[in-house]
Amino acid sequence: MVAAVALWMASQGVDPVEGLAVLLPGLYVDGWLVGAASARAMVDGAPLDLGDWTPGDTAVAQAQIEALGVSAGLATLLDGVPDAARDIADGRLKDLARVLIDGTDAGDPADVVGDALLEEAGDPARAAAVATGAVVTAAGLAAMAAYLGAGVRMGRWVTDSGNVCPACRANADAGEVPVGEPYPSGAVEAPQHPRCRCQVVPA
Ligand SMILES: [Zn+2]
Repeated sequence: MVAAVALWMASQGVDPVEGLAVLLPGLYVDGWLVGAASARAMVDGAPLDLGDWTPGDTAVAQAQIEALGVSAGLATLLDGVPDAARDIADGRLKDLARVLIDGTDAGDPADVVGDALLEEAGDPARAAAVATGAVVTAAGLAAMAAYLGAGVRMGRWVTDSGNVCPACRANADAGEVPVGEPYPSGAVEAPQHPRCRCQVVPA
């Protein structure tokens, strides 16, 4: 069914991998600046310095990353864009395939299934989740790189208030963990999962 959806999208001239590959670098660079600058501020006990950056201004983000000297590791993340784009697109194709399966299982007419597919494909909440996930992932990796660059040896997993999942709770309960080493969940930095609001701070 996923293959059928992929074929249908290709027949419509839609290539989700290509679209994501264009968008991800900007999201990664923005997230990297936020994560690295926040980590730097925490280490130095200084105010957060984002320069003249405003969200979405990738060129300014890139310049500020250089100015702060926290670019180490960003190139590796950007090298992973094609793979990440494929993974995200695969996940979305599975979402669409599920809509197709549910519709055909329910015996819905083609136009109803078609409307459901369009609604799923154009769901702004899904797009926002993908974009937020990219930014937060980049920020977590940038924070770890900034800690290592600043000589921070030990980190601590901090959860947000509110409902915390068992995996993140266990990571927090682990206390001090060497930067770059895995927490009990297996993650070496936050986020642990989509919509995770945790962060790693110097211990
Ligand atoms: Zn979490």
